[in-house]
Amino acid sequence: MTNHHRYPLLFSPLDLGRTQLKNRVLMGSMHTGLEEAPGGFERLARYFVERVRGGVGMIITGGIAPNAEGGHGVDISHEDEIQQHRCITSVVHGADPDVKICMQILHMGPLAPTSLCVAPSAIKSRIARHTPRELDEAGIQKQIRNFADCAVMAQQAGYDGVEIIGSAGYLISTFLVQRTNLRTDAWGGSFDNRMRFAMEVVKAVRAAVGLDFILIFRISAMDMLDGGLAWSEILQLAHALEAEGVNIISTHFCWHEAPVPTIATRVPRAAFTSVTGRLRRALTIPLITSNRINMPQVAEDVLARGDADLISMARPMLADPELVNKARDGREDEINTCIACNQACLDHTFGREQVSCLVNPRACRETLLNYVQTIKPKRLAVVGAGPAGLAFATIAAQRGHKVTLFEASDEIGGQFNLAKRIPGKEEFHETLRYFGRMLTLNGVDVRLNTRADAAQLKLQQFDEVVIAAGIVPRQPALEGINHPKVVSYLDAILARKPIGQRVAIMGAGGIGFDVAELISHAGTSAATDVKVFAREWGIDFINHPRGGVTGVQPHVETSGRSITLMQRKTDPVGKGLGKTTGWAHKMALARRNVRMVNGVEYLKVDDQGLHTRVHGEPTLFEVDTVIVCAGQLPLRTLFDEVSALGLPAHLIGGAFEAKELDAKRAIDQASRLAAEI
Ligand code: FAD
Ligand code: NAP
Ligand code: SF4
Repeated sequence: MTNHHRYPLLFSPLDLGRTQLKNRVLMGSMHTGLEEAPGGFERLARYFVERVRGGVGMIITGGIAPNAEGGHGVDISHEDEIQQHRCITSVVHGADPDVKICMQILHMGPLAPTSLCVAPSAIKSRIARHTPRELDEAGIQKQIRNFADCAVMAQQAGYDGVEIIGSAGYLISTFLVQRTNLRTDAWGGSFDNRMRFAMEVVKAVRAAVGLDFILIFRISAMDMLDGGLAWSEILQLAHALEAEGVNIISTHFCWHEAPVPTIATRVPRAAFTSVTGRLRRALTIPLITSNRINMPQVAEDVLARGDADLISMARPMLADPELVNKARDGREDEINTCIACNQACLDHTFGREQVSCLVNPRACRETLLNYVQTIKPKRLAVVGAGPAGLAFATIAAQRGHKVTLFEASDEIGGQFNLAKRIPGKEEFHETLRYFGRMLTLNGVDVRLNTRADAAQLKLQQFDEVVIAAGIVPRQPALEGINHPKVVSYLDAILARKPIGQRVAIMGAGGIGFDVAELISHAGTSAATDVKVFAREWGIDFINHPRGGVTGVQPHVETSGRSITLMQRKTDPVGKGLGKTTGWAHKMALARRNVRMVNGVEYLKVDDQGLHTRVHGEPTLFEVDTVIVCAGQLPLRTLFDEVSALGLPAHLIGGAFEAKELDAKRAIDQASRLAAEI
């Protein structure tokens, strides 16, 4: 049964003149870290092939630098490197000759992590390690030649085309934007001059590869930079690219250094596609849009609004390689949705770790982690239906084991039922929907409202027991900890106890930050409404001032509470948050006047408030509520009891280790155990 009637636009082919795309979904470019890993190209080939079999129409590879000054040292300039890339293109085309694969040429310019880095002017980016060397005329000509040579090698390696990235603060975009291009020669000054480099690169590439090779240019359609590109400049560049024979323009929405979140879970779905739509109405060639499009209906709606011709999904393809086929077959409820957490993908890229996915630990490990049918089915009991128990139960059952899942509460999800209540974490609902469906599909016997105990498990004669019982919140030993004004994070998030107007949050880990978000918040969640999001981050989608943000003041609604988020450590508060999302979390709280204090020693709680020493200074926080977010302890008693009865038992998730626990580790550990049990 196909579902083309439900997503008629998503599943319509796109004619590019000399070639055709079979549908409107492309897998956007992501650097995975496999590029540099031993045996990485074979692993990349398998990773791509699973997405090809999963139904995507086109793939853009992770960025490949055209020369040493442009990237991480991954390039394509020798015969043996071309050969490595052939291993990807041949496998992809072998799996489905109708799927196109294009190589992204990424010259990082001033963001390249090398002292050799270059730029139009010697201006160091706020987020770069090095000050770039200013290019002279010969240097500019060399860069242009290197782009063209790189494209030729991509063609020799069997790619169907290339995507040139002209956005994000990388080389080409630094020529385009005034504040990074201070040149007074023919490559700087007027916009005609600033766009010359982009155009010369495109001309050289087109001349080198001929007309049959797909040429995509990624433009910064709203760079979220104060003093960024004006709408008239974007239009002028896009028209020039079209005239120069670019086949597709891909729209991008920020520079890496922009102080606006553009892909995190706090960003509404499809938030930026109206910008692509405006550009599309001025052009005749197809446009790609992207950012937070994670489900087929969202993509179909974007196409129906006329905002784009093609939908780029990058992270959603990590989360579920079969997304497109599931949409086609009417199995949307089986899609493992990308929740835009960045925890296992972008945070890893920026931490120089290999990429995977929080909700799908197989991503980028397709050759290493496989869920093969068991030849020895076992009767397995799983205790706890949090992320760890859910992941274990579904995979073990899928492999053919007979699984019974015990959950003490009346719903599956564990702490995700708390997380999903935090404004900006609405996507966590999707993970619970996915697991709910997987439990049914794989025939897991789910016993809600059932607190498992050791004797019962023994009686039921399970072969093995998996304890995924999670954690208990830590209760610091402190005078006055039982005072009525002290509230646990559970009671605060579940609104089981009233929260006053003056609040101290004890503990500034992930949960402390989320509690601060929840209780400082008022009105509609920005993650569910583009207008609120634009207002909170100071974006003007209608008038499109320079960069979309120049001269626009952010405006946030607040609950009006006076909130202090505190920790004992003297490190900056929020240091442990996600690399690519923590800054936005901190900025959002600061805009709601949440104070952050480190170096706190807690003394006691009484009617006056919370007595502390802050960096040694006696300090009284006159608060009416103290919310305890002081970490968690593993819930292991059941494991000890079960083991004492001689039942083989395993520990996973928070029950195994509460320190530095997150859902990424819980799901990963559970999936690995389920793969081998
Ligand atoms: P839990 O989720 O704690 O689940 C344990 C389950 O076991 C519970 O449902 C419990 O009822 C059940 N149980 C216990 N004992 C028994 C018994 N005897 N019988 C039957 N059932 C039992 N992590 C991230 O990675 N990213 C985030 O953005 C994120 N945000 C969060 C926001 C909040 C507000 C909170 C509270 C947590 C957040 N986390 C986040 C942490 C994440 O939710 C946990 O790491 C994860 O839930 C741990 O999974 P688990 O399965 O080990 O345990
Ligand atoms: P956490 O991140 O370990 O933070 C615990 C906090 O409590 C720290 O600020 C710690 O800092 C403080 N603390 C520890 N022991 C204390 C004590 N005895 N008395 C007072 N304060 C104490 O844990 P969490 O916030 O409970 O979160 C649990 C897990 O969920 C985390 O590991 C986190 O990764 C995950 N999570 C992730 C996200 C996310 O957005 N990625 C969001 C929520 C939760 P000091 O010791 O300096 O005081
Ligand atoms: Fe999406 Fe998070 Fe997976 Fe990255 S790690 S692909 S953001 S779900």
